[in-house]
Amino acid sequence: MDYRRRRQNLGEKVIRALRLLSLLAVLAGVSVAQQSGEPIRPEWCRQLPRPEYKTLERVLDNEPWFEIYRIRPGVFAIYEPKQFEEVISYLILGEKRALLFDTGLGVGKISAVVARLTPLPVSVINSHTHFDHVGGNAEFQEIWNRDLLYTRKNMRGQSNIYLRDALAPERLCGALPAGASAKSYSIRPWKSAHTLRDSERFDLGGRVVEVLFTPGHTPDSLSLLDRRNGLLFTGDTFYPGPIYLFVPETDFAAYVRSVERLAALEPQIKLLLPAHNVPVAEPVFLKRLAEAVELVKNGKAKPQVTEGHREYLFDGFSLLLSGK
Ligand SMILES: [Zn+2]
Repeated sequence: MDYRRRRQNLGEKVIRALRLLSLLAVLAGVSVAQQSGEPIRPEWCRQLPRPEYKTLERVLDNEPWFEIYRIRPGVFAIYEPKQFEEVISYLILGEKRALLFDTGLGVGKISAVVARLTPLPVSVINSHTHFDHVGGNAEFQEIWNRDLLYTRKNMRGQSNIYLRDALAPERLCGALPAGASAKSYSIRPWKSAHTLRDSERFDLGGRVVEVLFTPGHTPDSLSLLDRRNGLLFTGDTFYPGPIYLFVPETDFAAYVRSVERLAALEPQIKLLLPAHNVPVAEPVFLKRLAEAVELVKNGKAKPQVTEGHREYLFDGFSLLLSGK
């Protein structure tokens, strides 16, 4: 299974070509880097940085793996631009406590970044337990998850071939941090210290954050709402890009209901903070997403069919379903 594709098909073709090239080079006993005099720069990587980042306030700009942006007072995006997923975790500060929404790939040490940003006690909530959002969980004591079979299975950690593939050369845009390697890459197991309930609220001191269960992408997908500030952290339920809805654990009917739940909040929302690609998106995407899933559900949208996937293209995002 091709694990991820945040980009369009053209990028994937280039990536496959590069992978083949690097395989041939390995067989010939030379590296592509040596041949060309520069490290492999996959096509997706050349398109970075994304223009949205230009207007954002960058902080701690000496971190080797992460890029950190202050999105709002007390809200930081912790972005991993050097890996194909371009995953984004969020640190949300109150006066007394902090919440970390996702812990990223586990390639760089996210707990060290968090410690540089706040001295407050930190609890972790995962938007869902796909590997790219839980990689740093084992670095923390206080992790709050749902108690689902699916979640419990992921809590055991992961060290399989697909995971190592996540750090293959064509999926990287720059060097791995010291101590990290594709060979040794794995997701360490973790324990949940508290079982989340739907609509549960956490008072961080001067800021209340609410958990909204939004299953679909995975059974344990959830969003975070800071109602007072109009901030909605959407996880993988929405991001501007191809939204992955093709893995076996995805339930499209559940996804449609979750999108409707979020879309009903739109009048109260000032900003969406997605878990991939860019940390800022206009709330109008909620309405567009709700319209899009409705069209797909009713068979009124025409997909592009490629490599076993159906991709439904919309303005600013697409829905990527399995071909079956
Ligand atoms: Zn995911």
